[in-house]
Amino acid sequence: MDVTIFGSGYVGLVTGACLAEVGNQVICIDVDEDKVAMLNAGGVPIFEPGLDDLIAKNRQAGRLRFSTDPDEGVAHGLFQFIAVGTPPDEDGSADLRHVLAVAKSIGERMTGYRVIVDKSTVPVGTADRVAEAMRAAQSERGHHIDFDVVSNPEFLKEGAAIEDFMRPDRIIVGTDNPRTGELLRALYGPFNRNHDRVMVMGVRSAELTKYAANAMLATKISFMNELSNIAEAVGADIEMVRVGIGSDPRIGYQFIYPGCGYGGSCFPKDVRALEHTATTSGYKAELLQAVEAVNHRQKERLFSKIERHFEGALQGKTFALWGLAFKPNTDDMREASSRRLMEQLWAAGARVRAFDPVAAEEARRIYGERSDLELVENRMDAIEGADALVIVTEWSEFRSPNFADIKAQLNTPVIFDGRNLFDPTQVTAAGVTYVSIGREPAC
Ligand code: NAD
Repeated sequence: MDVTIFGSGYVGLVTGACLAEVGNQVICIDVDEDKVAMLNAGGVPIFEPGLDDLIAKNRQAGRLRFSTDPDEGVAHGLFQFIAVGTPPDEDGSADLRHVLAVAKSIGERMTGYRVIVDKSTVPVGTADRVAEAMRAAQSERGHHIDFDVVSNPEFLKEGAAIEDFMRPDRIIVGTDNPRTGELLRALYGPFNRNHDRVMVMGVRSAELTKYAANAMLATKISFMNELSNIAEAVGADIEMVRVGIGSDPRIGYQFIYPGCGYGGSCFPKDVRALEHTATTSGYKAELLQAVEAVNHRQKERLFSKIERHFEGALQGKTFALWGLAFKPNTDDMREASSRRLMEQLWAAGARVRAFDPVAAEEARRIYGERSDLELVENRMDAIEGADALVIVTEWSEFRSPNFADIKAQLNTPVIFDGRNLFDPTQVTAAGVTYVSIGREPAC
């Protein structure tokens, strides 16, 4: 089948590469000329395990192309995917500027029936607005060509995106037109062989399902972070509590890790956008407000612990950071906890020496050259002569360090662990002070 994808970011590239891999002819269109030039030169602008190889293989096979030309894109695909960004607006709502620009662009150019597949995360009612934008663009040309708009939210996780796309838990298809449902079912057939994962529902339900999923996951995290703070207040160990509650199958062990807050391009903006949708629909979403507030506070938790430990004397100190990305296996630093922490440390006059297996380039892009940030190539280089080690992202390569080496390299032997990676007795046995989340009474 012929597929066009607008947007060559995390979602667009993974969708394009995976649809090409099963034999479709795919064109990815992006407005970012540098990005498209890089892709056409064989580069890949993001870090996502396995994506380079998949793109290279399908480009070579002639099934995957990249372009900035919307004429080419609209002429090509029966399916026109929208996978552009929906960043938060100032009031927390999703900014639909890019989505509607693509809709207009398709409406202006289409000469035959098209299925518009909305993969971006968009508020309930967006499919109607996409259809409106397309109709307006068509009527300016005096055309009335048939089209359908489908909501097909994406559930991939950065870091495991290819596996998630190739073997999805569910494929949500929101449409009120059975014929379009069948077209999408056919497109997704290769990813739906083991058992039926396609769930066809109304457009509004599909749009809400994506927000509901992310809000639920964010709620689990904020719940555990709230509990970790209570554990500190009462002298309990949150890790014991986690294991205790996870054993109940109604709760389960997944996604109940306490930490230093959630970040990334999805949870923060999607919780805010859902809350905004609820408010504008006349409902006050108090739980969502609390999820967001708890997360905001949790992102400052590591700094408070550091400040307390050094009794406020942070001026001139150097902190080694392990982890910059918002989670392991990605270079994405959007709303990452590392950013809030670094900004607080800098404001207090401290310096940061950071190591991340893949996100250093992204940190350089965000912060540029500055004298209080040093990005190093090796995790042990970050520690040498630093006043403390702070763990912000749970990369697996951080899980089993040599604590004696860490003690020898640090100026003052203390680890602040925002992800509870270590057994406290092991760390303290090596003579290193260990401050983690929800496992010691608040001082
Ligand atoms: P991204 O910022 O990585 O990529 C978006 C791309 O769209 C950019 O390359 C940008 O240049 C391009 N673009 C903007 N306007 C365009 C236009 N008019 N025509 C063509 N291209 C245009 O975004 P992303 O992380 O891939 O997210 C895309 C959407 O998918 C968002 O709504 C997001 O919430 C949702 N989503 C993201 C993830 C994730 O893990 N990143 C997962 C599920 C859903």
